[in-house]
This record gives sequence, structure tokens and C-alpha cells, in this order.
Amino acid sequence: MEYITNYPLGELKERFKDLGLEPYRAKQVFRWIYKKFITDFARMTDLSKEYRKLLSENFRFHPLKKLDRVEAPDAIKYLFKTVDSHIVETVLIKERNHYTLCVSSQIGCAVGCTFCATALDGLKRNLTTAEIIDQYIQVQQDLDEGKIRNVVFMGMGEPLANYENVKKVVKIMISSEGLDLSKRRITISTSGIISQLNRMAQDEVMREVNLAVSLNAVSQKAREELMPLTKTNTLKELMEVLKSFPLPKYRRITLEYVLIKGVNDSVKDAEKLAKLIGQHKRRFKVNLIPFNPDPNLPYERPSLTDIMNFQRVLWKHGISNFVRFSKGIEVFGACGQLRTKRLKLEIEGAVK
Ligand code: SF4
Repeated sequence: MEYITNYPLGELKERFKDLGLEPYRAKQVFRWIYKKFITDFARMTDLSKEYRKLLSENFRFHPLKKLDRVEAPDAIKYLFKTVDSHIVETVLIKERNHYTLCVSSQIGCAVGCTFCATALDGLKRNLTTAEIIDQYIQVQQDLDEGKIRNVVFMGMGEPLANYENVKKVVKIMISSEGLDLSKRRITISTSGIISQLNRMAQDEVMREVNLAVSLNAVSQKAREELMPLTKTNTLKELMEVLKSFPLPKYRRITLEYVLIKGVNDSVKDAEKLAKLIGQHKRRFKVNLIPFNPDPNLPYERPSLTDIMNFQRVLWKHGISNFVRFSKGIEVFGACGQLRTKRLKLEIEGAVK
């Protein structure tokens, strides 16, 4: 039996046709799932009993099982288990007027960033469309009130390495019959896979959402050391692609920069970063994320003075930048479990 949430609306209509159901029934079911978050065919009361039976014989919900929920003052971390017993992490961030959800797109990650806890186990597999969208559905079902308005693909994994499934999720999210989220409220965070960025630039659906790229270093050598994947996805190529990426009006690309003591946090590094951005200041903003020490990783957090000195250089060059200190907001900082791991430590500290 297949998961009904594997399909954007167009594909679901085709599946319904195969089963001898009128395609408009797909719209009805889609609305139950993504407008009312009803994941039980028996409760879809505008469908006849016969239809409900047929659907429940062919489709099911929830490829993920909720294992745990840990609450901190401004975030909730959810742990899910897949049917093949992998753990998926999702973080809900509470903001003043709304919620933001940080979803995972893979189990593990192949990019191998040396500062990221997800990289330690390598890539296990891609998450399916249903497994990604189920993170949203189950967290939304868990909330007493309010809707998740923002989604960031910044959990475990490299979303552009799971392009097709992530695109289907985006389609469900932006569909007016689906979650109906604004494209501006969805962010794909990537380590910068050149071929996939080029694909995204040509893709009418994907190029409309926000793009965040983990930069983390300002020379090819330093970047390769932190992010082994960049040996074949060079800094030069990356900046070329980003400088010509077709951005929607008033949109900017976020460059994520994890500040690590003695590695990439000097004033000289900041000057080089400004030079790298060059004349394209209006196209980029920089998120500076002070590294949070992890017992499994060999790096340290810079001092406050060094962070501020770095920031001052960017301001001097007129480059828009933010330092992400707050627990919840920090999750926006860079891709991967770096943040969720960090959050986990903080949450554990908070509940002890
Ligand atoms: S930081 Fe992101 S891209 Fe790098 S290993 Fe971690 S999850 Fe993968």
C-alpha cells in the first residue's frame, strides 16, 4: 500500500484515475489532508462510504512514527522513526507571531562538512516526499493553535541532492489546494552543488523559493577543508552561479557562514568575504553563525570581540549581515544537524 502524501495534486489525480476515481476527488482529499490535517479516510465526510473504503484499501498515511518531543522556551525538537528504523529530526521554532519548521531531507549527509554532526555517519538514504511532508503534517497536528507559516530545508541532509522529492514537497507546500504557503516563506539551504543550482535556476518552481548557501570560508583551500564536497564544486564556480542566479524581485541569497575560532573568523577573512561578494552587495545577505562546541568535533566558538570585529568589516563594506545568537533563530544558520545537534544540547540543558 502506498503513502498518499507522496503525490503533489497533479500526480494524485493521475493515481485516482488509475483507480477509476474522478480526478476532482483528488482535490477533495488533498484539501482534507493539507487544509484540515485530517489523516483518516473515515473522517472525510464529503466522500461516500464506498470511496472511503476504496481509498483506505489503496493508500495510507504517516510513514513516520513520532518518538519524542522535547520542548525548550523557543523551540520544540521532534524525533521521528522511519519504517526502516532510521531517526529523522525536525525542529519547530516559535517566533513572535508564527511558527517556522526546520525539516530534514535525507538520513545523514554525503557532503561531509567537518564541523557538522550529521556528516559523522555519512549518507544513509534520501527521505521520500511522504517522509518530508509528514514532518510538517505531524508537527502541525501536534499544535493546539496557529499554523506553521515558514519552512526551512535546513535539517539533516543536503536538499538539492534529493532534488525530485524536495521539489514535490515544495509543490504540495505552495499549491493553493495544499498548504498554500508563500514561496517567500520556504527556504532551501544548500552546501552549493553547482549542477543542482544550475538545475534550480532553470526550474520555474524551485527558483521561486528562497535560497541559502553554506559558504563558511573565503578561499578554495579553506573551504575544501571544512566542506570536502567543494573539491569538485569550487568556490569560484559557486560565486559565478550565485551572481547570475535568476532571483525574484526584492529577493536576496543568504550566505551562511559558521564562524569557527582560528579557522575562518579573522578580520582578513571578513575582508576576503567582502571582496568575494564585490559589486553584488544587493544580491546577498550574510548570516554569521558562531560555532557551538560539540564534544565530537574539533572546533571552538570565537570570542564575542572577534565576532563583532568580523561583523564590523562587513558593515564597512555595506554588506547586510546578521549574527544568529538566539537558540531558535540559530537553527536558521547553516544546513544540517549542526544546528539540530546544537539545539539538542541546549534543549537537554534546558530540561535537566
Ligand atoms: S552541514 Fe549540511 S551539507 Fe554539511 S554535512 Fe552537515 S547536513 Fe551535510
